[in-house]
Amino acid sequence: MTTTSPSPSTGRGPAAHPAHPRRSLVTGGAGFVGSHLVQRLLERGDHVTVVDNLSTGRRANLDPDAPRLRFIEADLRDALAAFGKGEVFDEIYHLAAAVGVKLVMDDPIGGIETNIEQTSALLRFAASHGPTASGVPTLITSSSEVYGKSARSPFAESDDVVYGPTTVTRWSYACSKAIDEFLALAYHRQRGLPVVVVRLFNTVGPRQVGDYGMVLPRFVRAALRGEPLEVYGDGAQSRCFCDVRDVADALPRLLATPAARGQVYNIGSDRAISIAELADLVIATLGSRSARRLIPYSEAYPAGFEDLKQRRPDLARIRSAIGFEPRRGLEETIRDLAAEMR
Ligand code: UDP
Repeated sequence: MTTTSPSPSTGRGPAAHPAHPRRSLVTGGAGFVGSHLVQRLLERGDHVTVVDNLSTGRRANLDPDAPRLRFIEADLRDALAAFGKGEVFDEIYHLAAAVGVKLVMDDPIGGIETNIEQTSALLRFAASHGPTASGVPTLITSSSEVYGKSARSPFAESDDVVYGPTTVTRWSYACSKAIDEFLALAYHRQRGLPVVVVRLFNTVGPRQVGDYGMVLPRFVRAALRGEPLEVYGDGAQSRCFCDVRDVADALPRLLATPAARGQVYNIGSDRAISIAELADLVIATLGSRSARRLIPYSEAYPAGFEDLKQRRPDLARIRSAIGFEPRRGLEETIRDLAAEMR
Protein backbone atom coordinates (compact mmCIF):
# COMPACT_ATOMS: atom_id res chain seq x y z
CA MET A 1 0.00 0.00 0.00
CA THR A 2 1.33 3.43 -0.84
CA THR A 3 0.08 6.42 1.06
CA THR A 4 -0.06 9.79 -0.58
CA SER A 5 -1.21 13.26 0.32
CA PRO A 6 -4.26 14.79 -1.35
CA SER A 7 -2.31 16.03 -4.37
CA PRO A 8 -2.40 12.67 -5.93
CA SER A 9 -1.97 13.02 -9.66
CA THR A 10 0.39 10.18 -10.43
CA GLY A 11 0.52 10.56 -14.15
CA ARG A 12 -1.27 7.25 -14.56
CA GLY A 13 -3.29 8.53 -17.46
CA PRO A 14 -5.49 6.50 -19.77
CA ALA A 15 -3.56 3.39 -20.67
CA ALA A 16 -2.57 3.07 -24.30
CA HIS A 17 -3.43 -0.59 -24.22
CA PRO A 18 -7.05 -1.57 -23.58
CA ALA A 19 -5.99 -4.61 -21.55
CA HIS A 20 -4.63 -2.49 -18.69
CA PRO A 21 -5.54 -3.56 -15.17
CA ARG A 22 -8.78 -2.00 -14.02
CA ARG A 23 -8.30 1.24 -12.09
CA SER A 24 -10.86 1.49 -9.32
CA LEU A 25 -11.58 4.28 -6.89
CA VAL A 26 -13.19 3.37 -3.56
CA THR A 27 -14.32 6.28 -1.43
CA GLY A 28 -14.61 5.34 2.22
CA GLY A 29 -12.40 2.35 1.41
CA ALA A 30 -10.93 2.18 4.92
CA GLY A 31 -14.38 1.67 6.42
CA PHE A 32 -16.15 -1.51 7.39
CA VAL A 33 -17.88 -2.30 4.09
CA GLY A 34 -15.36 -0.39 1.96
CA SER A 35 -12.35 -2.35 3.16
CA HIS A 36 -13.97 -5.68 2.31
CA LEU A 37 -14.76 -4.35 -1.14
CA VAL A 38 -11.16 -3.16 -1.59
CA GLN A 39 -9.99 -6.67 -0.75
CA ARG A 40 -12.23 -8.16 -3.47
CA LEU A 41 -11.06 -5.63 -6.07
CA LEU A 42 -7.40 -6.30 -5.26
CA GLU A 43 -8.04 -10.04 -5.48
CA ARG A 44 -9.35 -9.67 -9.02
CA GLY A 45 -6.27 -7.66 -10.02
CA ASP A 46 -7.45 -4.05 -9.90
CA HIS A 47 -5.26 -1.07 -9.14
CA VAL A 48 -7.25 0.41 -6.26
CA THR A 49 -7.20 3.99 -5.01
CA VAL A 50 -8.83 4.56 -1.63
CA VAL A 51 -9.85 8.00 -0.42
CA ASP A 52 -10.83 8.06 3.23
CA ASN A 53 -10.59 10.79 5.86
CA LEU A 54 -10.43 8.15 8.62
CA SER A 55 -13.28 9.84 10.48
CA THR A 56 -14.81 6.43 11.10
CA GLY A 57 -12.65 4.28 8.83
CA ARG A 58 -9.43 2.73 10.11
CA ARG A 59 -6.10 2.41 8.36
CA ALA A 60 -5.73 -1.03 9.97
CA ASN A 61 -8.68 -2.23 7.85
CA LEU A 62 -6.40 -2.11 4.79
CA ASP A 63 -3.49 -4.45 4.06
CA PRO A 64 -0.32 -2.32 4.41
CA ASP A 65 1.54 -4.71 2.09
CA ALA A 66 -1.00 -4.73 -0.75
CA PRO A 67 1.03 -3.85 -3.85
CA ARG A 68 -1.67 -2.31 -6.04
CA LEU A 69 -3.30 -0.20 -3.36
CA ARG A 70 -2.91 3.55 -3.09
CA PHE A 71 -4.28 5.17 0.05
CA ILE A 72 -5.12 8.86 0.19
CA GLU A 73 -6.06 10.19 3.59
CA ALA A 74 -8.20 13.19 2.77
CA ASP A 75 -11.65 14.68 2.69
CA LEU A 76 -13.20 13.37 -0.52
CA ARG A 77 -13.98 16.85 -1.84
CA ASP A 78 -10.31 17.89 -1.47
CA ALA A 79 -9.01 14.68 -3.00
CA LEU A 80 -11.28 14.96 -6.05
CA ALA A 81 -10.29 18.60 -6.56
CA ALA A 82 -6.62 17.60 -6.42
CA PHE A 83 -6.88 14.77 -8.94
CA GLY A 84 -5.37 15.94 -12.22
CA LYS A 85 -7.16 15.76 -15.55
CA GLY A 86 -5.13 12.69 -16.43
CA GLU A 87 -6.50 10.78 -13.47
CA VAL A 88 -8.82 8.28 -15.08
CA PHE A 89 -10.73 5.54 -13.34
CA ASP A 90 -12.55 2.61 -14.87
CA GLU A 91 -14.90 2.15 -11.92
CA ILE A 92 -15.89 4.14 -8.86
CA TYR A 93 -17.47 2.79 -5.68
CA HIS A 94 -18.76 5.55 -3.43
CA LEU A 95 -19.00 4.43 0.19
CA ALA A 96 -17.74 7.53 2.00
CA ALA A 97 -20.57 8.79 4.19
CA ALA A 98 -21.58 9.71 7.68
CA VAL A 99 -22.10 6.30 9.24
CA GLY A 100 -25.65 5.78 10.29
CA VAL A 101 -28.40 7.54 12.11
CA LYS A 102 -26.58 7.84 15.43
CA LEU A 103 -23.76 9.89 13.96
CA VAL A 104 -26.18 12.22 12.22
CA MET A 105 -28.14 12.70 15.42
CA ASP A 106 -24.94 13.68 17.24
CA ASP A 107 -23.78 16.05 14.48
CA PRO A 108 -26.66 16.89 12.13
CA ILE A 109 -24.86 19.63 10.18
CA GLY A 110 -21.77 17.51 9.60
CA GLY A 111 -23.85 14.47 8.70
CA ILE A 112 -26.14 16.16 6.22
CA GLU A 113 -23.36 18.15 4.58
CA THR A 114 -21.02 15.18 4.38
CA ASN A 115 -23.57 12.96 2.70
CA ILE A 116 -24.88 15.46 0.20
CA GLU A 117 -21.76 17.47 -0.67
CA GLN A 118 -19.47 14.46 -1.06
CA THR A 119 -21.87 12.61 -3.32
CA SER A 120 -22.46 15.73 -5.37
CA ALA A 121 -18.71 16.27 -5.83
CA LEU A 122 -18.18 12.60 -6.61
CA LEU A 123 -20.87 12.48 -9.30
CA ARG A 124 -19.54 15.65 -10.93
CA PHE A 125 -16.08 14.04 -10.97
CA ALA A 126 -17.40 10.72 -12.32
CA ALA A 127 -19.21 12.46 -15.16
CA SER A 128 -16.00 14.09 -16.41
CA HIS A 129 -13.21 11.57 -15.70
CA GLY A 130 -14.30 8.42 -17.42
CA PRO A 131 -12.68 6.18 -19.97
CA THR A 132 -15.55 7.25 -22.26
CA ALA A 133 -17.50 10.49 -22.67
CA SER A 134 -20.40 9.29 -20.55
CA GLY A 135 -18.17 9.10 -17.48
CA VAL A 136 -16.97 6.48 -15.04
CA PRO A 137 -19.26 3.55 -14.17
CA THR A 138 -20.16 4.43 -10.60
CA LEU A 139 -21.83 2.59 -7.76
CA ILE A 140 -23.45 4.78 -5.12
CA THR A 141 -24.15 3.14 -1.77
CA SER A 142 -27.34 4.24 -0.13
CA SER A 143 -29.18 2.84 2.84
CA SER A 144 -32.33 0.99 3.81
CA GLU A 145 -32.97 4.08 5.95
CA VAL A 146 -34.22 5.67 2.72
CA TYR A 147 -37.48 3.75 3.19
CA GLY A 148 -38.05 5.73 6.39
CA LYS A 149 -40.85 4.46 8.57
CA SER A 150 -42.98 2.88 5.89
CA ALA A 151 -45.13 0.15 7.45
CA ARG A 152 -44.75 -2.10 4.41
CA SER A 153 -42.80 -5.30 4.56
CA PRO A 154 -40.75 -6.28 2.72
CA PHE A 155 -39.42 -2.99 1.35
CA ALA A 156 -39.32 -2.97 -2.46
CA GLU A 157 -37.31 -0.43 -4.43
CA SER A 158 -40.40 1.04 -6.07
CA ASP A 159 -42.21 1.62 -2.73
CA ASP A 160 -43.09 5.07 -1.47
CA VAL A 161 -40.87 6.38 1.32
CA VAL A 162 -42.32 7.77 4.55
CA TYR A 163 -40.50 10.26 6.76
CA GLY A 164 -41.33 12.16 9.91
CA PRO A 165 -41.22 15.96 10.11
CA THR A 166 -38.04 17.98 9.58
CA THR A 167 -38.05 18.91 13.26
CA VAL A 168 -37.10 15.31 14.02
CA THR A 169 -33.35 15.11 13.29
CA ARG A 170 -33.40 11.35 12.73
CA TRP A 171 -35.02 11.71 9.33
CA SER A 172 -32.26 13.96 8.02
CA TYR A 173 -30.12 10.89 7.47
CA ALA A 174 -32.78 9.21 5.33
CA CYS A 175 -33.41 12.45 3.41
CA SER A 176 -29.71 13.07 2.78
CA LYS A 177 -29.37 9.57 1.36
CA ALA A 178 -32.52 10.05 -0.73
CA ILE A 179 -31.07 13.26 -2.19
CA ASP A 180 -27.91 11.32 -3.08
CA GLU A 181 -30.08 8.81 -4.92
CA PHE A 182 -32.04 11.53 -6.75
CA LEU A 183 -28.80 13.16 -7.83
CA ALA A 184 -27.24 9.91 -9.03
CA LEU A 185 -30.33 9.03 -11.04
CA ALA A 186 -30.45 12.56 -12.45
CA TYR A 187 -26.84 12.18 -13.67
CA HIS A 188 -27.88 8.96 -15.33
CA ARG A 189 -30.88 10.52 -17.06
CA GLN A 190 -29.41 13.87 -18.01
CA ARG A 191 -25.78 12.98 -18.71
CA GLY A 192 -25.90 9.26 -19.38
CA LEU A 193 -23.62 8.51 -16.41
CA PRO A 194 -23.54 4.72 -15.92
CA VAL A 195 -24.57 4.71 -12.28
CA VAL A 196 -26.06 2.06 -9.98
CA VAL A 197 -27.62 2.82 -6.60
CA VAL A 198 -27.49 0.18 -3.87
CA ARG A 199 -29.49 0.31 -0.65
CA LEU A 200 -27.55 -1.56 2.02
CA PHE A 201 -29.66 -3.27 4.66
CA ASN A 202 -28.23 -4.32 8.03
CA THR A 203 -24.72 -5.43 7.12
CA VAL A 204 -22.57 -7.22 9.68
CA GLY A 205 -19.25 -8.98 10.03
CA PRO A 206 -15.54 -8.71 10.73
CA ARG A 207 -14.12 -5.17 11.18
CA GLN A 208 -17.47 -3.79 12.28
CA VAL A 209 -17.32 -1.76 15.47
CA GLY A 210 -20.16 -1.05 17.87
CA ASP A 211 -19.30 2.61 18.38
CA TYR A 212 -22.01 3.88 16.05
CA GLY A 213 -24.84 1.90 17.58
CA MET A 214 -24.60 -1.23 15.42
CA VAL A 215 -26.18 -4.02 17.37
CA LEU A 216 -24.19 -7.14 16.41
CA PRO A 217 -20.67 -6.00 17.35
CA ARG A 218 -22.11 -4.63 20.59
CA PHE A 219 -23.73 -7.95 21.42
CA VAL A 220 -20.63 -9.96 20.50
CA ARG A 221 -18.37 -7.72 22.58
CA ALA A 222 -20.68 -7.97 25.60
CA ALA A 223 -20.98 -11.75 25.21
CA LEU A 224 -17.20 -12.14 25.11
CA ARG A 225 -16.84 -10.07 28.26
CA GLY A 226 -19.63 -11.88 30.09
CA GLU A 227 -21.54 -8.59 30.33
CA PRO A 228 -25.30 -8.22 29.71
CA LEU A 229 -26.45 -7.86 26.11
CA GLU A 230 -28.51 -4.67 26.11
CA VAL A 231 -31.67 -5.16 24.08
CA TYR A 232 -33.53 -1.92 23.40
CA GLY A 233 -37.30 -1.79 23.83
CA ASP A 234 -38.97 -5.20 24.18
CA GLY A 235 -36.63 -6.87 21.69
CA ALA A 236 -39.51 -7.88 19.41
CA GLN A 237 -38.32 -5.53 16.64
CA SER A 238 -36.74 -7.47 13.81
CA ARG A 239 -33.97 -7.02 11.28
CA CYS A 240 -32.32 -9.10 8.54
CA PHE A 241 -28.54 -9.32 8.86
CA CYS A 242 -26.27 -9.99 5.91
CA ASP A 243 -22.57 -10.79 6.09
CA VAL A 244 -20.43 -7.98 4.71
CA ARG A 245 -18.43 -10.45 2.62
CA ASP A 246 -21.55 -11.47 0.71
CA VAL A 247 -22.28 -7.79 0.08
CA ALA A 248 -18.70 -7.05 -1.02
CA ASP A 249 -18.81 -9.95 -3.50
CA ALA A 250 -21.99 -8.62 -5.07
CA LEU A 251 -21.14 -4.93 -5.56
CA PRO A 252 -18.63 -5.34 -8.44
CA ARG A 253 -20.93 -7.83 -10.12
CA LEU A 254 -23.78 -5.35 -10.00
CA LEU A 255 -21.67 -2.53 -11.40
CA ALA A 256 -20.55 -4.83 -14.24
CA THR A 257 -24.17 -5.52 -15.22
CA PRO A 258 -25.22 -3.09 -17.98
CA ALA A 259 -28.93 -3.57 -17.25
CA ALA A 260 -28.37 -2.40 -13.67
CA ARG A 261 -27.34 1.12 -14.73
CA GLY A 262 -29.85 3.75 -13.74
CA GLN A 263 -31.48 1.36 -11.28
CA VAL A 264 -31.81 1.11 -7.50
CA TYR A 265 -31.20 -2.23 -5.73
CA ASN A 266 -31.79 -3.52 -2.23
CA ILE A 267 -28.94 -5.64 -0.96
CA GLY A 268 -28.94 -7.68 2.22
CA SER A 269 -30.50 -10.76 3.69
CA ASP A 270 -34.25 -11.34 3.78
CA ARG A 271 -34.20 -13.71 6.76
CA ALA A 272 -35.66 -11.80 9.71
CA ILE A 273 -34.69 -12.29 13.34
CA SER A 274 -35.95 -10.39 16.36
CA ILE A 275 -33.33 -8.52 18.38
CA ALA A 276 -34.15 -10.62 21.47
CA GLU A 277 -33.56 -13.78 19.41
CA LEU A 278 -30.35 -12.28 18.06
CA ALA A 279 -29.10 -11.78 21.63
CA ASP A 280 -29.91 -15.42 22.44
CA LEU A 281 -28.18 -16.60 19.26
CA VAL A 282 -25.01 -14.65 20.09
CA ILE A 283 -24.96 -16.05 23.62
CA ALA A 284 -25.55 -19.62 22.41
CA THR A 285 -23.09 -19.44 19.48
CA LEU A 286 -20.29 -18.14 21.69
CA GLY A 287 -21.19 -20.27 24.73
CA SER A 288 -21.27 -17.06 26.76
CA ARG A 289 -22.42 -16.77 30.36
CA SER A 290 -24.00 -13.36 29.59
CA ALA A 291 -27.73 -12.72 29.90
CA ARG A 292 -29.81 -10.21 28.02
CA ARG A 293 -31.09 -7.06 29.65
CA LEU A 294 -33.99 -4.96 28.34
CA ILE A 295 -33.25 -1.23 28.13
CA PRO A 296 -36.22 1.12 27.63
CA TYR A 297 -36.03 3.22 24.46
CA SER A 298 -36.12 6.37 26.60
CA GLU A 299 -32.73 5.35 28.03
CA ALA A 300 -31.26 3.98 24.82
CA TYR A 301 -31.95 6.87 22.45
CA PRO A 302 -32.31 10.65 22.57
CA ALA A 303 -35.87 12.00 22.80
CA GLY A 304 -37.74 11.86 19.53
CA PHE A 305 -36.01 8.76 18.20
CA GLU A 306 -38.32 6.23 16.59
CA ASP A 307 -37.02 2.70 16.19
CA LEU A 308 -38.38 0.62 13.33
CA LYS A 309 -40.49 -2.41 14.27
CA GLN A 310 -39.19 -4.35 11.32
CA ARG A 311 -36.99 -3.96 8.31
CA ARG A 312 -36.79 -6.56 5.58
CA PRO A 313 -35.73 -6.15 1.96
CA ASP A 314 -37.47 -7.46 -1.10
CA LEU A 315 -34.58 -9.05 -2.99
CA ALA A 316 -36.42 -9.97 -6.20
CA ARG A 317 -34.74 -7.23 -8.22
CA ILE A 318 -31.14 -8.03 -7.27
CA ARG A 319 -31.80 -11.76 -7.57
CA SER A 320 -32.97 -11.27 -11.10
CA ALA A 321 -30.07 -8.92 -11.97
CA ILE A 322 -27.13 -10.98 -10.67
CA GLY A 323 -28.61 -14.05 -8.97
CA PHE A 324 -27.69 -12.57 -5.59
CA GLU A 325 -28.07 -14.93 -2.63
CA PRO A 326 -26.55 -14.36 0.81
CA ARG A 327 -24.32 -17.36 1.50
CA ARG A 328 -23.01 -17.02 5.03
CA GLY A 329 -25.25 -17.83 7.98
CA LEU A 330 -25.49 -15.58 11.01
CA GLU A 331 -23.68 -18.05 13.30
CA GLU A 332 -20.64 -17.99 11.00
CA THR A 333 -20.63 -14.20 11.04
CA ILE A 334 -20.94 -14.13 14.84
CA ARG A 335 -18.05 -16.58 15.21
CA ASP A 336 -15.80 -14.65 12.82
CA LEU A 337 -16.59 -11.32 14.48
CA ALA A 338 -15.84 -12.85 17.88
CA ALA A 339 -12.59 -14.41 16.66
CA GLU A 340 -11.44 -11.01 15.47
CA MET A 341 -12.43 -9.26 18.71
CA ARG A 342 -10.63 -11.81 20.81
N1 UDP B 1 -30.21 -2.37 19.35
C1 UDP B 1 -30.20 -3.00 20.59
N2 UDP B 1 -29.08 -2.90 21.36
C2 UDP B 1 -27.95 -2.24 20.95
C3 UDP B 1 -27.95 -1.61 19.69
C4 UDP B 1 -29.11 -1.69 18.91
O1 UDP B 1 -31.19 -3.61 20.99
O2 UDP B 1 -26.95 -2.22 21.70
C5 UDP B 1 -31.41 -2.50 18.50
C6 UDP B 1 -31.88 -1.21 17.83
O3 UDP B 1 -32.78 -0.50 18.66
C7 UDP B 1 -32.57 -1.75 16.59
C8 UDP B 1 -31.77 -2.99 16.23
O4 UDP B 1 -31.07 -3.36 17.42
O5 UDP B 1 -33.88 -2.13 16.86
C9 UDP B 1 -30.76 -2.77 15.12
O6 UDP B 1 -29.96 -1.66 15.44
P1 UDP B 1 -28.77 -1.15 14.54
O7 UDP B 1 -28.34 0.17 15.07
O8 UDP B 1 -27.75 -2.23 14.42
O9 UDP B 1 -29.41 -1.01 13.10
P2 UDP B 1 -30.73 -0.20 12.60
O10 UDP B 1 -31.43 0.39 13.75
O11 UDP B 1 -30.18 0.80 11.67
O12 UDP B 1 -31.52 -1.26 11.93
